[in-house]
Amino acid sequence: TYPTTLLPQLIEAVANAIDENAEAVAALDQAIGDGDHVINLQRGLAALLAQREELGLLTWSAAWQKMGMTLMSTVGGASGSLLGTLFLEMAKAAADQALDLKGFAVVFAQGVEAMKRRGKSEAGEKTMLDVLVPVAVYLQSDACTAAEGLTGVQAVAIAGVESTRAMLATKGRAAFLAERSVGHIDAGAKSCQLMICAISAVLS
Ligand code: ADP
Ligand code: MG
Ligand code: MG
Repeated sequence: TYPTTLLPQLIEAVANAIDENAEAVAALDQAIGDGDHVINLQRGLAALLAQREELGLLTWSAAWQKMGMTLMSTVGGASGSLLGTLFLEMAKAAADQALDLKGFAVVFAQGVEAMKRRGKSEAGEKTMLDVLVPVAVYLQSDACTAAEGLTGVQAVAIAGVESTRAMLATKGRAAFLAERSVGHIDAGAKSCQLMICAISAVLS
C-alpha cells in the first residue's frame, strides 16, 4: 500500500519533471494555444511544494481535497479547473486508509470521469484526456501490477501523448485552429505524461 507520507517526495518529483521540461511544454502551448500552460502548472506546483509536509500528514482523501482546492485557486486556465476537479473528485472517492494500487486505480478512474464531465470532453479530442483516459484504463487492467514496476504505465502515457499529434483539436484553445492543430502534440497531454512518469518512477 501507499501511505500519504510519500506526498512530499511525489510533489518534488513532479515539480522537477515539469521544471526540467518547461521549455518544451511551453513551446507546445505556444504552437497551438496561448503559451501559458507551463507557467500555470509551475504556479500550482509551487503552491503544492509549500504545502507538501503538511499534506504528508493527512489521509489521502483530506490531502487530495486540499490539493484540489490549491490547484483550482492557483493554476488558472482550462487546466486549473480540470486538474482541480480530478483531485476534488478523488478526495470524494477515496477511503481514509492507505491505498493499494488497485484501490488507487478505481479512485483515479472516478477522478478522470469527473474531468470529462467538467470539460465536456472525451479522449480523442487532443487534450490531457488522451493520456489520462488510457492510463486510467491500464491501471485497472490485469496487466498492471505493483510487481511489474509501473513501467507499463509510463509506456501507456507516452503512447497517449504521441497519439495527440495526429488528432484534430475539438476542445480547448487549439480547437480554434481546426485543421492547423494537426501535427502538433497537445501541451496538457505532455505535462500529464511527465507528471505520471515522475510519479510512477517514485513508486516503482
Ligand atoms: P488555457 O488553454 O486556458 O490557456 P492551459 O494552457 O493551462 O489553459 O491548459 C491547456 C490544456 O488544457 C490543453 O493543452 C488541453 O490539454 C487541456 N484542455 C483544454 N480544454 C480542455 C477540455 N475541454 N477537456 C480536457 N482538456 C482540456
Ligand atoms: Mg494555455
Ligand atoms: Mg491561458
